[in-house]
Amino acid sequence: MASAKENLKEAVLWEANGDKKVRCKLCNWRCVIAEGKSGRCCVRKNIDGVLYSLNYEKVCSANPDPIEKKPLYHFQPGSSSFSIATMGCNFRCEFCQNWQISQMVYEDGRIDGQAIGPDKIVAAAVRSGCKSIAYTYTEPTIFMELCNDCGRLAKECGLANVFVSNGYQTVEAIDFTRDWLDGINVDLKSFSEGYYKRLCKAHLKPVLDTIKYIAKETNIWLEITTLLVPGENDSDDELKKLAEFIVNEVGADVPWHISRFHPQYKYLDSAPTQVKALERAEQIGKVAGLHYVYVGNVPGSKSESTFCYNCGRALIERIGYRILANHITNCCCPDCGTKIAGFEL
Ligand code: SF4
Repeated sequence: MASAKENLKEAVLWEANGDKKVRCKLCNWRCVIAEGKSGRCCVRKNIDGVLYSLNYEKVCSANPDPIEKKPLYHFQPGSSSFSIATMGCNFRCEFCQNWQISQMVYEDGRIDGQAIGPDKIVAAAVRSGCKSIAYTYTEPTIFMELCNDCGRLAKECGLANVFVSNGYQTVEAIDFTRDWLDGINVDLKSFSEGYYKRLCKAHLKPVLDTIKYIAKETNIWLEITTLLVPGENDSDDELKKLAEFIVNEVGADVPWHISRFHPQYKYLDSAPTQVKALERAEQIGKVAGLHYVYVGNVPGSKSESTFCYNCGRALIERIGYRILANHITNCCCPDCGTKIAGFEL
């Protein structure tokens, strides 16, 4: 008879916690898990006093995407990123845009996916002309074992690696990725603990700590995204505090993406974000001193393009995820010579 451990990958970043319990150190829930039980994310299980990943090689999405879709606008612009995910999440956002793959493990215990190993993922990325692998759609922290194996192999093959994350990883988890993670987009969903608690069943402070740690203590390229939900996180006061946090605690060069909300999952009684609300948020970001503020999910908006914050020259012209022109020269504005921050611009 097959053992429960067969075909399972032992988890990274955990420790024994007495009585066959384990403590997971991957994300800031730091779950203490009894024998036979799973952590809050439902994809890490204690079997016989050892923590295992239940979603290793259970890939539920794998396809090339424009890097702009992550969104990462200052990272290898115009390139494709081979984007993978497994099922599960450590948040419970009521408006999750990918709830079919992030929340189904929690709702009915399903962990669907194909057994595609790191070698096949990296080979497919190279074959499709991608310059990076993106760990995205669901929270990459909770499939860290696959990210780690894949990320190391990708580096050997000359590819970069990027995360699209909710920012709940521990310092230990960030340090664990240092050798192979090149870029990250972190969701800063709101600047209110009440919002995180009520709508995401999570907390704000660990996310702020992650953002600061990545910006100050690592070389990982960072961009930040805020989904603007009408009436929930879009007051002038909150947006001002959030933008000032980025400028003062993270850096004016960190791009801020303000993204348009569409009703999803359990949060269906709201209209999509109005364009004028996005433009108001953009203005607040610029007044706070941010160098690069973008409006997302509004194809055709001028605010999809990159402009020199010093002289106003158009630098990367975009329509949707498509790059029409990239005028950046030697990482600088061709008109005034101002250095433009980013990764392989
Ligand atoms: S990844 Fe986070 S939620 Fe999942 S078991 Fe570890 S600490 Fe808990």
